[in-house]
Amino acid sequence: MAKKAFDQYRAHVDVVVALLGLSPAEAKVFTEPNRVIEKILKVTIGGEERELSAYRVQFNNARGPYKGGIRFHPGADLDEVKSLAAMMAIKCAVVDIPMGGGKGGVTFDPKGLSKPDIETVSRAFARAFATDLGPLKDVPAPDVYTNGEIMAIMLDEYEKVTGTKAPATFTGKPIELGGIPGRDTATALGGVFVLEAYVSEHGLDSKNLRVAIHGFGNAGATAATLLYERGYKIVGLSDSKGAVMSARGLDPMKFQEVKNQNKSLRDMYCQGSVCDEGLLERESVVVGDPNAVLAMDADIIIPAALDGVITNEVAEEMHAKIILELANGPVTAEADTILEKRGIDIIPDVLANAGGVTVSYFEWEQNIKGTTMTREEVNERLKQVMAKAWQSVSKFAKEHHITYRTAAFALAAKRILAASLTKK
Ligand code: GLU
Repeated sequence: MAKKAFDQYRAHVDVVVALLGLSPAEAKVFTEPNRVIEKILKVTIGGEERELSAYRVQFNNARGPYKGGIRFHPGADLDEVKSLAAMMAIKCAVVDIPMGGGKGGVTFDPKGLSKPDIETVSRAFARAFATDLGPLKDVPAPDVYTNGEIMAIMLDEYEKVTGTKAPATFTGKPIELGGIPGRDTATALGGVFVLEAYVSEHGLDSKNLRVAIHGFGNAGATAATLLYERGYKIVGLSDSKGAVMSARGLDPMKFQEVKNQNKSLRDMYCQGSVCDEGLLERESVVVGDPNAVLAMDADIIIPAALDGVITNEVAEEMHAKIILELANGPVTAEADTILEKRGIDIIPDVLANAGGVTVSYFEWEQNIKGTTMTREEVNERLKQVMAKAWQSVSKFAKEHHITYRTAAFALAAKRILAASLTKK
């Protein structure tokens, strides 16, 4: 059986503990959360009374208030939320923003539920955790299957319960409620900035680079468009229903239109199992299983959807030379070792997808100060943050002959420990 999420995270931490020679007390900072809060939300959804498990893990706040998303997902159990909370602490330290690490989750499947039902769960969460959250305490944001609208509802409930006006308690909000322009594209754009820094450092030319993207949600679809605009050749795209692949290149905008009609990518060519062979041939397109893009003949693979998709088997079969982890935890710890041996570079999640939380920090800061930023200002500042983070990770990796992931974790660990009062 595959290792559980926290064990996957622990595997990376163990490498760093050995590399930096950390004492048991220091290592504990990365293996034991400060606080785990578990609640049962009693709600009536889908016409039924339900009891949903809900969590907020406040992993570490040495560098600033706990920060991290809330996910609504059937797999969001304590183990997963704990590992993601720990990764948030690392992520914020990698990009050097003054926030700590936290994460929340409600274990249920929101798919197919009505908007009022989702609102019921969102309000129940904000009510149950109201005393644990706050602008200087713990600042949630959207994550898997949550969004700005849900943040608006949670903020409303939080402000009612606490009798405060405190928009900085949640980030990823709609603009009218103190949200920031560019938060929606920040994860993908941050990843693109890091990739561009890698590409220029390695003397590569984007025009010669073929990219395949796994997942066509917000991060995957935005990254596809941004890279296409910058001259990269997009040779593979996928969603949960299937993959579309073409050595000649794909125009992601065309697929975005298909998605906007609530259809899947392969619907461009196929109806159920019957595909338009003539059209596939004319456009030199092949359709396949969603995971087919991972082992494609491409230079860069971008997992942008689920965790754990790059397993040992996939790692052995991969052709790409670079993996940009836009999703959290897409490469298993064992696959990580295989990819290192095969000389495939991984730009790790804690750096590659840190653009999201970075712009969340800009949003939090503007709410605290009572100021606003334009999209241009946000994107320019994001670029600076990501480029600087890349430089320090890359330099550290070279100096110590280690992977970018180990370098990112080690650099973050040093920063977190420098801000902690930990007895040796
Ligand atoms: N959920 C996002 C992440 O995993 C963003 C968190 C945030 O903006 O606080 O990084």
